[in-house]
Amino acid sequence: MKQTWQNVRDFLKLVKKDYPYAVYVIISNALAKASLPFVNLVYYAKIIDALTNNQYEIAIKYAVLMISLSLALGIITHFTNRDIEMYGYTLDGSLMQQITYKAMVMEYEEFEKTDSMDSIRMAKGKANGAGGAGSQIEYINLFVIQIISIIYSLYFMGKLFINLKYTNFNQAIIWMLILSFMFVGLLIIGNKISKLSSDSFEEMQRKNVHFNSVSSYICYQATIEIKDILLYQLQHLFITYNQSVNKRLGIYIEWGKKNGLYTAIISLCMNIFAATSYIFVGVLAINGSISIGNVLLYAGTIQRFVNYMTGSVTYYNQIRYHADFLNEYSKFINKPNLHYVGTLPIEKRSDNKYEFEFKNVSFKYPNTENYVLKDINLKLNVGDKLAVVGRNGAGKTTLIKLLCRLYEPTEGEILLNGINIGKYDYDEYTTIFSPVFQDFALFSIPLDENVASGLQINNKKLSECLEKVGMNEKVANMSDKEHTLLYRDNGEGVNVSGGEAQKLAIARALYKDAPFVILDEPTAALDPIAEAEVYENFNDLIENKSAIYISHRMSSCKFCDDIVVFKDGEIVERGNHTTLLEKDGEYASLYNAQAEYYA
Ligand code: ADP
Repeated sequence: MKQTWQNVRDFLKLVKKDYPYAVYVIISNALAKASLPFVNLVYYAKIIDALTNNQYEIAIKYAVLMISLSLALGIITHFTNRDIEMYGYTLDGSLMQQITYKAMVMEYEEFEKTDSMDSIRMAKGKANGAGGAGSQIEYINLFVIQIISIIYSLYFMGKLFINLKYTNFNQAIIWMLILSFMFVGLLIIGNKISKLSSDSFEEMQRKNVHFNSVSSYICYQATIEIKDILLYQLQHLFITYNQSVNKRLGIYIEWGKKNGLYTAIISLCMNIFAATSYIFVGVLAINGSISIGNVLLYAGTIQRFVNYMTGSVTYYNQIRYHADFLNEYSKFINKPNLHYVGTLPIEKRSDNKYEFEFKNVSFKYPNTENYVLKDINLKLNVGDKLAVVGRNGAGKTTLIKLLCRLYEPTEGEILLNGINIGKYDYDEYTTIFSPVFQDFALFSIPLDENVASGLQINNKKLSECLEKVGMNEKVANMSDKEHTLLYRDNGEGVNVSGGEAQKLAIARALYKDAPFVILDEPTAALDPIAEAEVYENFNDLIENKSAIYISHRMSSCKFCDDIVVFKDGEIVERGNHTTLLEKDGEYASLYNAQAEYYA
């Protein structure tokens, strides 16, 4: 229970970010809604009593008061309802936005973890309708209404008890005992049934999350990855999966049956209790303990009290269920940063004099045992062109990931101009790199926005960069030229080839114009002519910037004066093409192995 309220508090904090007054709105709404029936009951009683005493004017006065109060409460309800409904509609979307944002800014190392991935999957499941923030707001509101109503009921029941005339006291006590027993029984049954009902609801929703995620995955893949589906005839497999998705209907029916039974049992018990409480209050009226008008007030109060008690249990269970789910989001969104968050600005140097140094850097990936980098010592200055070579899995890409602060070194440190890179503000730090990763991503947005990484586009610069990577002509022939939408995810876009995408990714790196260019297997998807062009123009491309160039094509590294050779996470050789060949070590062995194919 404590955990549930903690989760609800966290959830309301999230809501507050978007809607600072949400809690006040919910409470005002609940107050108005809970007060309305009692205002009516109290004034009905007063009007009936005035009428039975022939006090017509007083009756009219009460009627006018009742109508005015109801109107005022109705107006509050109307406006707060409107806001609560709006929260309901927008909160799930907004939560999804917060999750997306967190996913985009969180540390890469954290992002890769399974529980982060699970949170994102759950968020997507929620977007598919497994109940979410909107419903939680609704249930919290309903729960608060029940609690306020219970307080009202207790007040009026206490008043009834105090007003009982002494002569009927014993009789009233017996009736109250009977009612109390029934009430306790009803509460136990109600609680049990409400728990059963919410458990089965919870089970249904959890099963649905999985089916929803499978269903949207299949729908997405079936419209994107057509080639493989056609040629491996995956339709049958996918249809089988989709049929298993139809199990959802079965789950709903199963839950519907159970829930129908639970509701029937509860309403039968409530009706018995309502009848008994009317008889009790009726007897009190006949005995003259209470006025005729008050029969309505007190019988109504007792009957409502039971409704509110069972209602509060039901809504509490719903809140608990939703809180469990939503807690996953809050946990994800509020995940603290793993690392020291740097604040230092990057020194803006007109001479571009930056120096990186890896000092005794060793690294193993989180939750793994083996070091993939061992005691790396390496210096790099602006203007240097460094080639990094080595077999697959030697640790080349990992070196780049550490340099870009996607991971922190397990041991040792990386310095920029003598200061640990972790101490710099991360956003500023990223401005000095133009990386093209092996698994780079372009997005389904217009081509120019992809290359310029934003909406502000310098057309001259864009054209120069496209020219440098040999894409100008291709882009000129596209339907919307540089504004052409890439890929089909977001509309009638253009599918570019792997090689073209790689050229665009290089153009994006050039457009960024950062002092350090990192090219990780930059020509893997290019055809031999395009690859040759990249090498020939390499110095033009890079100009006076630093470049770290990773390639498994040894011939492509020849033009670099400084080549480091990685083997099993260690730097085993360093030199230029000629000196390394002379050494007849790892480099020579890799080079000769590839040269054989061309001989
Ligand atoms: P290279 O770029 O030289 O081919 P990598 O730096 O990509 O090599 O990989 C070095 C080693 O680290 C490999 O054994 C690889 O399996 C492992 N590795 C890479 N990424 C991860 C990761 N995210 N988690 C665990 N191990 C990884």
